[in-house]
Amino acid sequence: MSAQRVLVTGGSGFIAGHCILQLLGRGYSVRTTVRSLEREAVVRSVLAAAGVSDGADLSFVAADLLSDAGWPEAVAGCDVVLHIASPVAPGGVKDENDVILPARDGTLRVLRAARDAGVRRLVLTSSFHSVAWGHPHDRGRTFTEADWGVVDGPGMDAYGKSKTLAERAAWDFVAAQAGALELTTILPTAVMGPVMGPQISGSNGLVQRILDGALPGYLNLFFPIVDVRDVAAAHVAALDAEGAAGERFLVSGDPAISMKQVGEILRERLGDAAPHLLTRSIPDFVVRFGALFSAEFRPVVPNLGHARQASNAKARRVLGFEPRPAEESIVDTARSLIAQRLVRS
Ligand code: NAP
Repeated sequence: MSAQRVLVTGGSGFIAGHCILQLLGRGYSVRTTVRSLEREAVVRSVLAAAGVSDGADLSFVAADLLSDAGWPEAVAGCDVVLHIASPVAPGGVKDENDVILPARDGTLRVLRAARDAGVRRLVLTSSFHSVAWGHPHDRGRTFTEADWGVVDGPGMDAYGKSKTLAERAAWDFVAAQAGALELTTILPTAVMGPVMGPQISGSNGLVQRILDGALPGYLNLFFPIVDVRDVAAAHVAALDAEGAAGERFLVSGDPAISMKQVGEILRERLGDAAPHLLTRSIPDFVVRFGALFSAEFRPVVPNLGHARQASNAKARRVLGFEPRPAEESIVDTARSLIAQRLVRS
């Protein structure tokens, strides 16, 4: 069966924007949610700049993950839902409920509304955090969809908890009360790729700060990178793919690379176009010492030197996922940041 009308939650977001772009390009009718309809004009202009010539197949509904209002209207008449919206706050937050409540309770709100409206399938954007965070170091290990994040384990942060608890709640809901509604979850690793508009999400912020020299130095941290265009393609494939219902899919590109390697790629490929590129590195012992005094450093310590690897075999097999090289994503991220003047010149 082919999907016709798709609800994409959080149309102002980075991944959602790329999903909307691909869905419209394939002829789907798309409805998206924003927290306030005041954002509609901005989202439309960002999509227009990205190549959407006619926004007639795109409509907006206001809905917040913290409230029931708007969700029945958002899902009405939709065949499928991409539930992508969730607060992205890697690192520290003042109160972890600021991210956990919209992630977990918001997911349940969208699921309930989707079930009640007779939606066929909901594709939830989870995260590699929900698989690989909270585990002790194990250098030889490659994580798969069979693994789950450990919410009280080493290196788990509030964001990782929010994603793990939200995905768990979604599967529990489906097991007990979803009726005919199918669930598929997509678990991206660190998402990079061309920015759309002035907002910069999680992993692209790392490229921005490396380009701006706006960090004390490279930390001994590793990232398995995946391109936003490939993540969006995986979401679109998951709407209809046979064998995707009831399944989790890790979407990851090349093996994890270090923060320093990201900087080296930027230096080699951008040269003079990156005049403020970060040069210093911070040794692990300095971070460990800093963590004694700084709450910001503490969650970083268990992740030092921990190159978590992710298998994308299942996504390749079932979703036809074909990720591009990490180097291409890093360079395209940087070029888009430079083109939109989102880094120091
Ligand atoms: P993003 O650009 O920050 O987008 C997040 C979206 O969630 C925004 O549209 C935001 O709306 C919306 N949102 C946040 N709190 C909300 C609330 N209370 N009610 C309604 N909407 C709310 O982040 P992204 O990178 O595209 O991430 C999208 C999804 O991918 C998230 O589920 C994230 O966990 C997941 N993910 C991201 C990465 C990554 O590296 N970027 C990796 C793995 C998984 P506003 O614009 O109004 O704030």
